[in-house]
Amino acid sequence: MKRDLQTDVLVVGAGPAGCMAAMQLARQGIDVLLLDRSQFPREKICGDGLLEDSLKILKSVGISSAVKEKAHTIRSILFVAPNGTECELEGDFYTLRRAELDALLLDEARREGAQFLGGITVSEPLVQNGSCVGALGLDEDGQEISIAARLVLLATGANARILRVFGVLQNRNHSAIGVRGYFRLTETIDESSMVVVYDKRILPGYVWMFPLGQGIFNVGCGIFLEGRKRMPRFGQNLTKFYKHVQPLARYLQMAEQIAPMRAAAMRTGFQGARACAPGLLVLGEALGLTFPFIGEGVSSALESGRVAASVALEALEKNDFTSRILGSYEQSLRKTLDGRQQGYQVAQRLFRFKFFANLLIGKAARNPDVRKVASQIVLGERDPLDVFSLRGMFRVFMLR
Ligand SMILES: Cc1cc2nc3c(=O)[nH]c(=O)nc-3n(C[C@H](O)[C@H](O)[C@H](O)COP(=O)(O)OP(=O)(O)OC[C@H]3O[C@@H](n4cnc5c(N)ncnc54)[C@H](O)[C@@H]3O)c2cc1C
Repeated sequence: MKRDLQTDVLVVGAGPAGCMAAMQLARQGIDVLLLDRSQFPREKICGDGLLEDSLKILKSVGISSAVKEKAHTIRSILFVAPNGTECELEGDFYTLRRAELDALLLDEARREGAQFLGGITVSEPLVQNGSCVGALGLDEDGQEISIAARLVLLATGANARILRVFGVLQNRNHSAIGVRGYFRLTETIDESSMVVVYDKRILPGYVWMFPLGQGIFNVGCGIFLEGRKRMPRFGQNLTKFYKHVQPLARYLQMAEQIAPMRAAAMRTGFQGARACAPGLLVLGEALGLTFPFIGEGVSSALESGRVAASVALEALEKNDFTSRILGSYEQSLRKTLDGRQQGYQVAQRLFRFKFFANLLIGKAARNPDVRKVASQIVLGERDPLDVFSLRGMFRVFMLR
């Protein structure tokens, strides 16, 4: 038997983007229904790293302390160039398994009054006079569910199929692939530093090792597909590949793998989907908001949730779900995110060449001024375009 539900705002996808939007709307007393195909807590393939940008947004909505309490604190990131040069940048960073982070965000959204249904896979939109007025889905028993809504927020991550059926897909290809697994170290090592290695075989991508505390490490790699003719050859076994990447190899010698390597697609560069259609907004990774070159996407997903909620409030108040109101969502996001998206896109193109990776990491290792600028970029205090532009590169080039 078909179930019929009704809500003001339907949010599809309970990752950081969907939870943030649902939380903000529910706080304003709006009737919100949040759906996810998974039951929570659920695994999400991720590096589990949280940069300052994410913390800033969480702080602005009053939940950074709850996240920090559960997270593992990191004091520095060690960058390793293809030629082995090392450069350490200091700052406050955090790691928290996504199963825990996303469950915490969902709890906050529910505490504010959002309704949540897990195990519902949304399959298609409900459309009336060219406007999205809800969605159809299936529950875990295969039963159909129909949800009528005044506005739909699509926050379904890197899933291109759902973007296509909602009519907002512009490019079905994803732009990067990430792989990660979990390891437990059998000997005690410093767990306050993240390691990022630009191995020449996967440039402009990198291999990472992020400590989660209590001897557990997230080890993975990100491969960016732009301009790449074929995937790097890892042979049969990714874990074997890591064993030839220094300094990871040293650590992995004293580690046991506790969860298998799993891969997921990423959509980056603020492209690949339309941000809005009548009755519909697209959020987070579904909108390609994960940053190129660094593969970080939790902060921009949270930001899109926050902006989508404020635009949704205005649309609900004016009872206008056309691009007249919804169009301001993309403008607002571009103002905040375009600088970083473009800067990291340029960085990704430069780091295809090991010469640039060696040059930049080498300069940062030797020169405290370059190191300071690099830290400011990583901490979100400075636009990456300051370095990754013709002028910026010239300035770096001239420094010793
Ligand atoms: C290997 C890897 C490592 C990464 N490391 C980092 C990192 O360290 N730090 C960082 O900030 N970012 C990282 N990212 C990027 C980050 O994971 C994403 O940018 C982020 O998860 C985007 O959040 P979101 O809310 O848009 O989507 P998601 O977190 O993907 O959430 C989407 C939700 O939608 C649900 N869904 C999808 N389709 C449907 C449907 N049809 N019906 C109902 N529900 C549906 C899914 O179950 C999911 O819960 C990494 C990505 C990968 C692949």
